[in-house]
Amino acid sequence: MSPKTFQDLITEVHDKGICQECGGCVSFCSSAEYDIIALRDPYSPPVYINEDKCLECGICYHICPQTHVLDDELSKTYQFKDFSTMPIGNYKNIYSCQAADQEFLKYGTDGGVVNSIINYMIEKKLIDGSIVSKTDAPFSREAAFADSKYDLIKASGAKLEISPQLKEIQKFCTYTHSIQKLNHYKFKKLAIVGTPCQIYTIRCMQDLGVTPSQNIEICLGLFCFENFLFDRSQIERFEKDFNISFENIEKLNIKEDIIFRLKDDGTGEKVIHIPFNQIEDYMRPACRACNDFSNIYADISFGGLGSPDKYTTVITRTKKGEELLLKTVNAGVIRASELDKSKKNSMLELITQFSRLKIDRKDAFMKDLK
Ligand SMILES: Cc1cc2nc3c(=O)[nH]c(=O)nc-3n(C[C@H](O)[C@H](O)[C@H](O)COP(=O)(O)OP(=O)(O)OC[C@H]3O[C@@H](n4cnc5c(N)ncnc54)[C@H](O)[C@@H]3O)c2cc1C
Ligand code: SF4
Ligand code: SF4
Ligand code: SF4
Repeated sequence: MSPKTFQDLITEVHDKGICQECGGCVSFCSSAEYDIIALRDPYSPPVYINEDKCLECGICYHICPQTHVLDDELSKTYQFKDFSTMPIGNYKNIYSCQAADQEFLKYGTDGGVVNSIINYMIEKKLIDGSIVSKTDAPFSREAAFADSKYDLIKASGAKLEISPQLKEIQKFCTYTHSIQKLNHYKFKKLAIVGTPCQIYTIRCMQDLGVTPSQNIEICLGLFCFENFLFDRSQIERFEKDFNISFENIEKLNIKEDIIFRLKDDGTGEKVIHIPFNQIEDYMRPACRACNDFSNIYADISFGGLGSPDKYTTVITRTKKGEELLLKTVNAGVIRASELDKSKKNSMLELITQFSRLKIDRKDAFMKDLK
């Protein structure tokens, strides 16, 4: 039987509306210099651009997070059984952390921990740089390569000096095609920051030994309950529904709900909490078909959930991840709060609760899809 190809991804993934647009298939195909498929539109699945040249190698099909072909292999490598028995995957430890560097802390999404760790790795020459995601507005991001503190601060959570521009409105989406970016840096030692769907794809690529995944030294995974898609009409609807102007959003955090911090108009800081169930209409449709909340295949996972303001919840999963975190703590780069057993358990319980919600949401969605 011939291997499944990109044509099968179209039928089994794209046509069902469950392509997560991680860019993994395109990254492999173009890094192998086949250039047969491409991501043309940031809001749509990849397309064939040179179908007649397709080698029918099947790699794109194997690494897609929606085909689950390599689930058994990954389960063995990461000692993960299944989502029903291990909703938050395998882990070594859980911490609540904060960057010691005041700039990373100030501009960070939560505790500025992810970018501080990357900066440490660059300074210690453990990596040449990292694939991150640049911010130019609360919902606008673009995959980028960072090899300096300056680049990392630009990629931190807070919106910096650049204002959202209406002509840029098509980019109002928090999702970035980070994996696709890998191709440009295939001769460097890299870290990558990604959502669970992206890290899953990277692990599949590493399992198959496909370029350029072997250059990734460390996978830094973000928690992700869902991601958003804001086109012009949705922005208008959102602004009306929640009485928030996009231009006034200073910062966005995600914990038990979505927290919008608005610019100070002279009357003090205004913080608005919107529960996930009220913002469902703005979710990227494919996120309903995703069941990993806490980024189970990352070396280290990071989120806001479970930690106080200005702290990041950190779950170390692999030996490499745990060693790296401890090195940054010992070097004074990261401050880790002392957590007793009961505090750790309550954080794990909260993360489990959100993980279960996501697992149940996927189950219900897939049932309807059949
Ligand atoms: C789309 C999305 C959904 C999330 N959902 C949740 C959630 O439901 N619950 C929760 O607790 N936490 C969630 N998080 C994680 C949380 O918002 C913080 O990113 C995390 O706590 C790390 O904070 P920090 O201050 O340590 O990171 P920082 O030091 O500020 O670094 C953040 C890093 O993330 C990178 N980044 C930002 N956006 C993206 C993106 N779209 N794709 C790839 N890399 C990106 C930046 O480049 C930067 O390197 C989500 C993050 C994202 C991007
Ligand atoms: S050449 Fe291989 S990776 Fe590229 S589209 Fe065809 S089957 Fe997929
Ligand atoms: S690998 Fe990613 S971009 Fe490609 S079809 Fe699958 S989900 Fe979509
Ligand atoms: S919920 Fe997050 S991890 Fe899942 S598909 Fe959406 S962006 Fe990717």
